[in-house]
Amino acid sequence: MQVTEIRGYELGFAPEPAIGNARTFIRRRDFLLLEIVTDQGVSGWGEVFSSPFAASALIQKRLAASVLGQSPLEYGRIWHQLVANLAYDRRGPAMMAISAIDMALHDAAARIQGRSVAAMLGGALRDKVLTYASGPFLAEAADPYGHYPAAVEAALRQGFRAIKPRAGLDPRADGAMARDLRTRFGPELGLMVDINQGYTVGAAIDAGRRMAEADLLWIEEPVQPEDIQGYAAVAAAVPVAISGGEALGSLASFRDFLAARTFSILQPDLTVCGGYTGYLRIAALADAHDLPIMPHAFGTIVNHRAALQAAALTASRRGGGPMPYPFMEYDISNNPLIEMAGRMGLSPDGTMAIPDAPGTGLDLTAERFAPWVTASWRCAV
Ligand SMILES: [Mg+2]
Repeated sequence: MQVTEIRGYELGFAPEPAIGNARTFIRRRDFLLLEIVTDQGVSGWGEVFSSPFAASALIQKRLAASVLGQSPLEYGRIWHQLVANLAYDRRGPAMMAISAIDMALHDAAARIQGRSVAAMLGGALRDKVLTYASGPFLAEAADPYGHYPAAVEAALRQGFRAIKPRAGLDPRADGAMARDLRTRFGPELGLMVDINQGYTVGAAIDAGRRMAEADLLWIEEPVQPEDIQGYAAVAAAVPVAISGGEALGSLASFRDFLAARTFSILQPDLTVCGGYTGYLRIAALADAHDLPIMPHAFGTIVNHRAALQAAALTASRRGGGPMPYPFMEYDISNNPLIEMAGRMGLSPDGTMAIPDAPGTGLDLTAERFAPWVTASWRCAV
């Protein structure tokens, strides 16, 4: 049993409307989808969403040789070997490249065994997970938050019971927006905000205090992703749980953030933190600190399905809101790559089923995303 081929597909699109957050308007979204092909007639899928082109080059020029010819069942050994091979370069695009390989190897290994990734990794703790709407986003309008009430209403009609609008415009506007949503939609709505690294520490504290009245479940990425002292200052001053970690690529980064009492909720992204292998190491660290952890996912259906498997493996913690954590994120922007395997199905209780079909349960072929492919490559034994 061995990996015979690695196929890379670079793909992307221009979101319409642009996706506004506190830092930028996203006008172009690019991804790398990785297909790891085995001699068993099955393949597995992985994704890079943050630095796809750099990861693409790293896989082709540096990492593929350590994966081709190996058994996909030995994903753990391969992960450690890839990390050791990188030596000086164990975060950022290099860890994203390893993340995509790890995701694809797990998917292939589980499919070969005819069971889900969660079953292969010891068994799912749940078969459904509360799924929140990730959005709405700032608009290029006189009032960037003006459309939020209508957008939240539309999300509630779709069955969502929790929602995470983007914030970080300015502290007063944030406070007014959050209080308005709470007043309009009542106490049962799970309400969080994402500041996308946008604020200085002072502004984050000001905004956090103004929004606290809206009974938020968490405030996400209030300041720069590496700013441990800044996170600690915000966490100490604001009476709302502070979450983050989607940009962190190593167990050691999470260790340092937790030692400084920064996060109340950890949100590693499988495509950034080392795939399932990285996520589960961070989950053990979260457990040791008695903190909830949930996978961040804002990309294609490949990472979303992998994150569902990770959510199935994540211990339950009560953090307020409609159900115990973990919650699962769902990108509600116009994103054809999250709907390319079919529309998301939410149950009336706001949960999404976690597939127990082989691998991640995703039925994907390259034809599905052909309209968005900008380049592709192959490495073979
Ligand atoms: Mg975020």
